[in-house]
Amino acid sequence: RAKANGGNEAIILDPQTQNDFNHSGELQKAMRQSIDDSEFCIYLQPKFSNEQKIIGAEALVRWQHPTLGLLAPYHFITMAEESNLIIPIGMQVLEQACEQLQKWQASPTTKSLSIAVNLSAKQIWQKDFAEKIIEVVNTHQIDPSKLIVEVTESIFLKDIKAATKKLNKLKSIGISVSLDDFGTGFSSLSYLRDLPIDEIKIDRSFMFDIHNDKKALMMVKSIISLADNFNLKVVSEGVEEKQQLDLLTQLGLSIFQGFYFSKPIPPKDLDILINKVNHQ
Ligand code: C2E
Ligand code: MG
Ligand code: MG
Ligand code: MG
Repeated sequence: RAKANGGNEAIILDPQTQNDFNHSGELQKAMRQSIDDSEFCIYLQPKFSNEQKIIGAEALVRWQHPTLGLLAPYHFITMAEESNLIIPIGMQVLEQACEQLQKWQASPTTKSLSIAVNLSAKQIWQKDFAEKIIEVVNTHQIDPSKLIVEVTESIFLKDIKAATKKLNKLKSIGISVSLDDFGTGFSSLSYLRDLPIDEIKIDRSFMFDIHNDKKALMMVKSIISLADNFNLKVVSEGVEEKQQLDLLTQLGLSIFQGFYFSKPIPPKDLDILINKVNHQ
């Protein structure tokens, strides 16, 4: 079974360092500088099919901080949102994801792979949000049907009409829309009927106890039947154990992401994993 990590994991700061980091006032300045110095990079976490093949990946941002080391979003994403720096950071993530797609699409063995990028509400509410994304896609001359954008339902709570209109622009060129962390917010039935989404990702909090907790299992079953009725793809996030995978497979799910398969890894490591898993 394919497992990957290999010393590439993002570090966890001790609370004191995190605290200094947050309150130094230097953080925003450092982030701004890091955008210019391209210290933000993507790690890719593969998505697996029920045939245990890699069908794509999610791009997850990391900050290669010069002194602190490799930082996971937990340490800087809130600050990036509050300072609006998530907008240029998000563009760098999209650029890197499109570069990866461009490479994959150049080879027949990898051309069907997709990449998902997470979008911040701050990005979406920019005036020329869709146009900017479409421009990056066009510049890289990639097949847009292999790009997925992940959004959370908070954007629809704020202004469902405007969010729908913006996302429909992306969908009009073939980009897919995925609803991330599904089940954790105020998701309602009418949402699923009206939203311009192609896929939902069942939040990993539901996976945690699925093989022991009847209620967790009922939740997942209900989400699956909802998605079926509305013709949406379903991705299971946070699959950590074989038991979870077996149960989810029995329930009819077929797209999986989680530490059981692989942690997020550098793009070049994912290429090695793809070679091992998909082309044997
Ligand atoms: P998310 O989009 O829900 O991404 C999934 C998170 O769960 C990732 O954490 C991933 O490493 C982690 N994960 C995946 N499988 C497992 C598992 O089996 N067990 C456990 N315990 N965790 C698992 P990460 O990379 O730290 O990202 C955290 C969040 O930060 C993301 O949640 C997303 O909301 C945000 N984020 C990451 N990259 C970006 C980005 O480029 N832009 C924006 N706006 N947000 C981002
Ligand atoms: Mg996500
Ligand atoms: Mg998620
Ligand atoms: Mg999440």
